[in-house]
Amino acid sequence: MSEEAAVVVAIAPGDPLPSWCRPQWEVLAARAADGTLPHALLLCGPSGLGKRALTEAFVRARLCKSPREGHACESCRACRLLAAGTHPDRMLVTLEPNPKTGVMRKEIVVDQIRALSARLAMASQLGGWQVAVIDPAEAMNTSAQNALLKTLEEPTDASLIVLVSDQPWDLNATIRSRCQRLDFSVPSRDDALAWLASRGVESAGAVLAAAGGNPGQAWLLAEQGGMQRRQEVARDLLALAAGRGDARAVGRAWADDEPAQRLEHAARLLEGALRARSEGQRARFDPGWDDGTLAARFSEANRLRALLNGPLRADLALFGWLDGLARA
Ligand SMILES: [Zn+2]
Repeated sequence: MSEEAAVVVAIAPGDPLPSWCRPQWEVLAARAADGTLPHALLLCGPSGLGKRALTEAFVRARLCKSPREGHACESCRACRLLAAGTHPDRMLVTLEPNPKTGVMRKEIVVDQIRALSARLAMASQLGGWQVAVIDPAEAMNTSAQNALLKTLEEPTDASLIVLVSDQPWDLNATIRSRCQRLDFSVPSRDDALAWLASRGVESAGAVLAAAGGNPGQAWLLAEQGGMQRRQEVARDLLALAAGRGDARAVGRAWADDEPAQRLEHAARLLEGALRARSEGQRARFDPGWDDGTLAARFSEANRLRALLNGPLRADLALFGWLDGLARA
């Protein structure tokens, strides 16, 4: 699992659905209305596009006892239980601490899926739907995915399993084929800017560009000092590329403060420089390497970002990469 799966949900449950989630909502609402919902859904796309907000709204609508125009009423007993997080027919399978060590697990394990299957095999406690969300679904390890396959092959009535995934390619292909898939992609610039404006983000155009057009990621950047980090990353990379700067000091500084986010900025900056060159222009950030070196550095930044989740010491790994930049 890479760091992306762990990115904070950018759109909180309870917020109105972003406009660009409308088509996906309509598909689900229509199938729910005519009684043709599948037993399993797979919602996928990059983090920050509203998959989780839509999942939350849809789960609530399924469990609500008196939905209005397809949406949860927010006032019946079921809705109150949902709001309190105590609805007995709503299940969430996610990353949890290991009960023996207390250390957060990096994968969803088979026992969690077995417990889910056992609950789904029992009748609904409030006499309606049973809904389970598995998120991040790609965090299921191989045994967990195999156990889930069995559950998907023998679905129980009035049950719905929603898999939410930022990286669906890490899921078993058979699991993917057993789910109705809904893809989320980056919305139009106008939609994204309108949404950012509604949340009071200043300089929304610049933040959105820095986030590659992804509004949820842009909002995170604006909220969490990400823009400043991006400027620092650009400054550090340019200094190293120009033979100034100390790769070891930069590696330590990055390792101490959001190393994965800094590598993501590095990757986006390098990608932006490559794209500008392919259009015959030169980006404001361009370290001056030849195209091949630039492309290689971009791939390395992405690879390293995934590796940081492993047992590597972040400062050493970053130093190795940054030192290579200084020599390129
Ligand atoms: Zn309700």
